Amino acid sequence: MSAAEEPLIYILKPGELVLKGGNREGFERILIRNLRTLLAAGKRPGGIRVEGARGRFFVHGPPEAAPRIEEALGRLFGIAGWARARKCEKTPDAVFAACVLEGKALYDRGLRSYKIEARRTDKSFPLDSYGICVGAGQELAAKAPGLRVDVHGPQGIIQVEIREKAYVYALASEGLRGLPVGTAGRGLLLLSGGIDSPVAGFRMASRGMGIDAVYFHAFPYTGEEARQKVIRLAGIVGRYTLGIRLWTLGFTEIQQKIKAGVPEAWCTVMLRMAMMDCAEKLARRIKAKCLITGESLSQVASQTIENLSCTESLVELPVLRPLIGTGKEEIISQAQAIGTYETSILPYQDCCVLFSPPHPVLRGRVEEARRYYAALELEEPVGRALREGVMEKCGFPESPAVPQENEP
Ligand code: ATP
Ligand code: MG
Repeated sequence: MSAAEEPLIYILKPGELVLKGGNREGFERILIRNLRTLLAAGKRPGGIRVEGARGRFFVHGPPEAAPRIEEALGRLFGIAGWARARKCEKTPDAVFAACVLEGKALYDRGLRSYKIEARRTDKSFPLDSYGICVGAGQELAAKAPGLRVDVHGPQGIIQVEIREKAYVYALASEGLRGLPVGTAGRGLLLLSGGIDSPVAGFRMASRGMGIDAVYFHAFPYTGEEARQKVIRLAGIVGRYTLGIRLWTLGFTEIQQKIKAGVPEAWCTVMLRMAMMDCAEKLARRIKAKCLITGESLSQVASQTIENLSCTESLVELPVLRPLIGTGKEEIISQAQAIGTYETSILPYQDCCVLFSPPHPVLRGRVEEARRYYAALELEEPVGRALREGVMEKCGFPESPAVPQENEP
């Protein structure tokens, strides 16, 4: 069989999972479930199989499944990296030959130094780990010129595992790291069409949080294109979070009441308070455990520490702001890496831009904010917005994972 026809084996390196002590088994089960869900996206799995436990995970599949498997691995929180492994006979010669091929592959990737790490769970193999490293090193010295050994700071590590079969691999691709989505409850993301909030959702998902989202839509001040843009953003982030349920709530009446009912300088803070108020009520209904926003300290007038205090003063659920200490440049580069940036910068205005006063309050006092807010008597319009909201599913894998023999 030529290399191209051989069945694929990917070895996954879990990220922080190993640190999680007693929770580890639960985390691993969710990691595997998430990977199976991602792999089943769109089509039937077609011979792809996921297995593993106790920190070792494998994906097996036919050669033509490589793009699909790698796409799924690239969207999976909870793994530090992965490699396509070479499976070989359990003899020293076969293992050394595989190490030479792996060494040449490192060289082709531009790497010039390496070390070998060997693990032997099958003690009947004639060499111990040290013997494997020495023997493979000699073969590489003879047959892979241009590579040198560096045990302290190697550019590549060739791993040998002798278990029921022999596996040789070098980690080639970085995973997203973080923790598997679904291990840290669910939060409700306030998702606007901007650059920041999709990144905020991604960051919380990277800590294992499942994401629901809410978008406040002020038709006709903001048009259908703006809404479509938010749906698209939820779809992009949702591909990392195994889907996002997005609620669109009509905010026109609330905005009009705010504009008519408070001094102009207070409009933005009131609008934020109304969003938080509404979002918290929705969160309780759908059992989300916190609110998530894309706010970043002092980025705009509504994000001074005083105004943030006003904004959250009505809310009892935790308000998580994963970008609070992150600058715009770093947020933008993460948005580019995730794939949301190009959509975020499409020019459809969001409601807040239309309603921002020329001279907004910069250091709102909480008592004053609460007084203004109470005087607006928004209970009814908020209730209506919640009742009339619509939910769409964005970015879900198209079909659920087909259960496999070893499904936990
Ligand atoms: P973003 O890029 O996320 O829009 P921004 O810098 O434009 O952020 P603001 O417009 O002040 O900041 O919004 C701050 C946060 O409030 C957003 O990150 C988002 O979480 C929330 N938010 C703003 N507008 C809306 C909206 N129309 N629907 C839902 N959430 C919103
Ligand atoms: Mg915005």
